[in-house]
Amino acid sequence: MIDSHTHIQLISYYDLKLMHKYGIDSLVTCVGSAPVANSYLTIIDVMSTTLNLYRKNGREIGIDVFLGMGINPRNIPMDWEKSINAFSDFINKNDIIAIGEVGLDSGSDIEINVFREMVKLAKDYEKPLIIHTPNERRLEIVNEEIKIIEEIGISKDLVEIDHAGMDILPLIKEHGLNFGITVKVNRLSKNDVLKNIHEFERGMLNSDVTNVNDSDPLAVPNTVKFLKNHDVKDDIIERIADRNARKFFRI
Ligand SMILES: [Zn+2]
Repeated sequence: MIDSHTHIQLISYYDLKLMHKYGIDSLVTCVGSAPVANSYLTIIDVMSTTLNLYRKNGREIGIDVFLGMGINPRNIPMDWEKSINAFSDFINKNDIIAIGEVGLDSGSDIEINVFREMVKLAKDYEKPLIIHTPNERRLEIVNEEIKIIEEIGISKDLVEIDHAGMDILPLIKEHGLNFGITVKVNRLSKNDVLKNIHEFERGMLNSDVTNVNDSDPLAVPNTVKFLKNHDVKDDIIERIADRNARKFFRI
């Protein structure tokens, strides 16, 4: 079972043990809104710590940790323009499987400029792109994100719009993009997933677990259990809790 969107640098060793106990054997971890990055060097430091320490912890516990790298729209460093070369260099030298999470939150000009560079990075390195969606003005912001994706011309196989919901799903499908299903407070509930399970069949379940807002390290196993208890077919559960993400992230 794979949790396709986490923030391992913002959870505890104990959380990881719990995740493993309830069936998680792999996770994808993203750059988050903390620690606050006044400089892009903070992001590089978090990436190095994750590669050298948290990934090792995961291995000890029995979880394979896969890293996404980028600039989170809620945490754009002042010197972000200098980050592009440094990120390219880091990706060349290290095991980075995705660019993420990146995208737009408020939709400001600086977010748009940063996001464009992040999409280019994913295109140049042929890495899957994990795209954040905000809590407010969702349709408008996702439309803007898709416009940028199409303008840069990255392959749609490499694009995931995360935190999907029934509000933006028609738009995501119309453009043939992959999507993440986040089960957490202010995103989807287990019941939302159950009610719309056939709409979500091509998606990738995740917890978006972090310590900066209300989230649950066991969101994926708990959702799987809930769906099983409501007689959702094993094949669908396996797809959303494992196979779709393995295919998308090529892991
Ligand atoms: Zn996140």
